[in-house]
Amino acid sequence: MQIDILTLFPEMFSGVLGQSILQKAVEKSAVNYNVVNFREFADNKHSTVDDYPYGGGAGMVLKAQPIFDAVESLKEKAKCRTPRVILLCPQGESYEQRKAEELAKEEHLIFICGHYEGYDERIREHVVTDEISIGDYVLTGGELGAMVVVDSVVRLLPEVLGNQESHMKDSFSTGLLEHPHYTRPADFRGLKVPDVLISGNHKLIEEWRNKEALRRTLARRPDLLEKIELTDEQEKWLNEIKKEDK
Ligand code: SAM
Repeated sequence: MQIDILTLFPEMFSGVLGQSILQKAVEKSAVNYNVVNFREFADNKHSTVDDYPYGGGAGMVLKAQPIFDAVESLKEKAKCRTPRVILLCPQGESYEQRKAEELAKEEHLIFICGHYEGYDERIREHVVTDEISIGDYVLTGGELGAMVVVDSVVRLLPEVLGNQESHMKDSFSTGLLEHPHYTRPADFRGLKVPDVLISGNHKLIEEWRNKEALRRTLARRPDLLEKIELTDEQEKWLNEIKKEDK
């Protein structure tokens, strides 16, 4: 996957993309990152990328020209002619795991990180394919949002996570929150690990995990249960949980 990031603050990305799994993904040739300062594309003497809003008001607006030119240049260089062009924006669709799964199937993603008051509306209308918000709050710029999306997409690419870190059972991938985890020691200051987890019985362990995932989802995110179709077994467990936790 080719990931291009258009930003006015490219230094912000070196730590995040140069560490841990996101960096290992480059070594495994699963992804290539290209962080571009779109100021380089400004067609004026002072490399200005923003201007006052028409109609007046507070704040500066990112101009259309540098971003149009930057995206066109990236598209020309790319093998894939139809990249997804993603605008980070508090007015976009709320970002969820299913969107990460959808984006992980693409060959080429271009992220546009806004700053200041916002961007010229013509960018949204003519350049962008997706608008993503990472939550109902306002950030200074789109950089942190782009990092969130890149991280959640890259970890889904084939070969990026080893078996040990498989994402298949992560929260949201199954439609539920994940079950609780424990590690050694089995008794820490008198706090014991559930017996079933040290029983060695894999079938019972799997059942416990599936049931606890349901219990956790019911307690913390009951809205998620409305969105999935439960199996007969899950329905049975859910009824048990409701009685147990009354
Ligand atoms: N005036 C804009 C509004 O009210 O919608 C907010 C602009 S914000 C200060 C500057 C930039 O930060 C945005 O253009 C966007 O790129 C980014 N940003 C802010 N909040 C975000 C969020 N929740 N999700 C994704 N990007 C966000």
